[in-house]
Amino acid sequence: PEAITIQELANRMSERAVDVIRMLMKQGAMHKITDVIDADTAQLIAEELGHTVKRVAASDVEEGLFDTVDDSTDTETRSPVVTVMGHVDHGKTSLLDALRHANVVSGEAGGITQHIGAYQVLSPESGKKITFIDTPGHAAFTAMRARGAKVTDIVVLVVAADDGVMPQTVEAINHAKAAGVPIIVAINKIDKPDAKPERVRTELLQHEVQVESFGGEVVDVEVSAKNKTNLDKLLEMIALQAEILDLKTNSERPAEGTVIEAKLDRGRGPVATVLVQRGTLRVGDIIVAGAEMGRVRALISDQGETVQEAGPSVPVEVLGFNGPPEAGDRLAVVENEARARQVTSYRAHQKRENAAASISGMRGSLEQMMS
Ligand code: GDP
Ligand code: MG
Repeated sequence: PEAITIQELANRMSERAVDVIRMLMKQGAMHKITDVIDADTAQLIAEELGHTVKRVAASDVEEGLFDTVDDSTDTETRSPVVTVMGHVDHGKTSLLDALRHANVVSGEAGGITQHIGAYQVLSPESGKKITFIDTPGHAAFTAMRARGAKVTDIVVLVVAADDGVMPQTVEAINHAKAAGVPIIVAINKIDKPDAKPERVRTELLQHEVQVESFGGEVVDVEVSAKNKTNLDKLLEMIALQAEILDLKTNSERPAEGTVIEAKLDRGRGPVATVLVQRGTLRVGDIIVAGAEMGRVRALISDQGETVQEAGPSVPVEVLGFNGPPEAGDRLAVVENEARARQVTSYRAHQKRENAAASISGMRGSLEQMMS
């Protein structure tokens, strides 16, 4: 149910909160400034105070922001987006680092690559690009899914050959399955004397992950992030899987994407790493993500280079937001600043109301508990 705090209602009418409270009192209800009242009561009060009320529905504001239904123009092949998951200490970070340095898309070998939360590498055999989300962790994955963001095409499940399937391995399997994302198993630490890759395959079978050698369809690759063994093979398997998925997009449209991470940088202001998913993001574009808006001031690639645009499956640092959005927020390009303000002020308002409603709900249940 829609609701609003008395303070917010007063603000929006440019009235004093005390007058709203007085009005409510006349109707026999005692309220504090922080109290939440329902939309009908709010409308009544606003009208009593001589305001005309226009209740805006989410569907009006959000309409047309994302072209989610029509994918008939998605005819270009795009690179797969990969998330690495697995149990703690099984080598996710090591593998991501090894892959990043093994085959960076551009720039000199051994050059300084910037950490922006995602990067692209070339699969050496096929020459195809692969995008890795460089923030391993199930929390990020679930947070994004909770916000309805689908960024991952393929999950690389890292399992240490000397440790086998562990609780977070199982968690990762469940996440991938729930999201309908195919798994490629990287059996890591194969260099270790106590590595038992065959045991890993057997254990995976108990969790309904059936690798090819056991008659299943899940590809597994024995790797060593430490010795950089079989990394090219892993990349090739990812490229193959991507071909099967037949990932399509359209770069000739306003950009849509997802915020991978965002922060307030001391020198540069709000900085967001965005994975562009459809269309092309350009310097000068007016953007919204969550309750934040801005105009793209600069785009910086995973190589730390300033670029003018970023197409589908390309991760890029975006400068120009008025404030940092949140990981998992979906980015859209809008036609003008007025539209951006409409969307973000509506969302900011919803956010405040939800927060206020959940706090007052908490207070309510606390009071119930006390009485
Ligand atoms: P994460 O918690 O999954 O990100 O795991 P890390 O990448 O931090 O690795 C955990 C530990 O395993 C570190 O001490 C790594 O050096 C080590 N490690 C990672 N990959 C390998 C590997 O292929 N071989 C060996 N011997 N050690 C590895
Ligand atoms: Mg790690």
